[in-house]
Amino acid sequence: MTQFKFSKRVPADGTDAVGAILKAAADPKIISFAGGLPAPELFPVKEMKAAVDKVFDEHGQEAMQYGAAKGVTALRQAIQQHVKEKENVDSELDNVLVTTGSEQALDLVGKAFVNPGDTVLVEQPTYLCALDVFRSYGAEFASVEMDEDGMKMDALEEALKTHPNTKLVYTVPNFQNPTGRTMVEERRKKLAELAEKYDVYVLEDNPYGEIRFAGQHVPAVKSFDKSGHVFYMSTFSKTLAPGFRLGWVVADKDVVNKLTVLKQSADLHTDNLGQYAVAQFLADNDLDAHVKEISDLYGKRKDLMLAGIKKYFPEGVTYTDPEGGMFLWVEVPGVDDTVELFKECLEHNVAFVPGDPFFAGAPQPGAFRLNYSNMKEDQIEVGLKRLGEALTAAVNK
Ligand code: PMP
Repeated sequence: MTQFKFSKRVPADGTDAVGAILKAAADPKIISFAGGLPAPELFPVKEMKAAVDKVFDEHGQEAMQYGAAKGVTALRQAIQQHVKEKENVDSELDNVLVTTGSEQALDLVGKAFVNPGDTVLVEQPTYLCALDVFRSYGAEFASVEMDEDGMKMDALEEALKTHPNTKLVYTVPNFQNPTGRTMVEERRKKLAELAEKYDVYVLEDNPYGEIRFAGQHVPAVKSFDKSGHVFYMSTFSKTLAPGFRLGWVVADKDVVNKLTVLKQSADLHTDNLGQYAVAQFLADNDLDAHVKEISDLYGKRKDLMLAGIKKYFPEGVTYTDPEGGMFLWVEVPGVDDTVELFKECLEHNVAFVPGDPFFAGAPQPGAFRLNYSNMKEDQIEVGLKRLGEALTAAVNK
């Protein structure tokens, strides 16, 4: 057998903890809150088909030809307008880069800015795939404590002082994956100020911000950025469909130009047909109305989740109550091995994602993520009843 000499970037075997969990939870008798998928019943299939037909009729050859690395102009213009409308962020076309999912934006920013040994400051907990990306470029992590109002700015400033080699601060300010928490406005202002003061960059990852079903919109960190230190990224994955793999970055032109060079090495450009199709969809349909439908459905599901949690979970368990997005976060006191708890829950035919891989440092025991966006209403009640029984058994052990 050949022993392949993989680069240091390649994760060691056995690091795909979440893959293993999703596999274990795929058994049809298990009700799984472990996934992270949007509700497919709301994908605008008919409208998208019409958009694709029109693209083939009107721009068939361009859509099937090689395209520009920065993306299709009509789509970049639509993104530029969208980001102005939703987040009050002014940009020129040269500030906008289309990426292959926002996952690619994470990768390009990691590649462009992180040298081995640079510190990336992350929320505690944070989006686990972002950890994987930055880790692959040799990042060291320091975690910044959060509370119900998002990342704590005093803790961030402290971390900036104690980690002078910090390059990047990564945040998911709206309905964070995994906690569902949202950063309040004054902290966003402060974050933009701190980035300038300490000359570090903020990567603002906002895939969920538009999926709000309660409370008031909070302006993007990028809208407070005076110096170009904030890079904003988002995606059509949650508002339209993830299968198109369409995301974007809005940042200073110098940054966008460098990311574009790196993107060219990765995939030359994002799939042209998908870009044309989504641009056409946006021109012919009311995205806001569509997003409202998604938000209403997720809000209904989140309410059912909270009702089930209150009814079935044992005393002392805490949980977040998100105002949008797809996830909530549960903390069970007295549990010291969440993966063990996960296995016990599988025996009750219910699953979640254990919190451990969302932590850059030591995980918080007894914490886990529940998804509700892709949970049918009747499954929520039954699933939470099972979960409540499993948790009751675990805390009484
Ligand atoms: N960032 C966060 C916080 C996410 O939760 C996700 C999707 N799970 C992504 C980025 C990547 O999404 P996509 O590549 O589909 O745009």
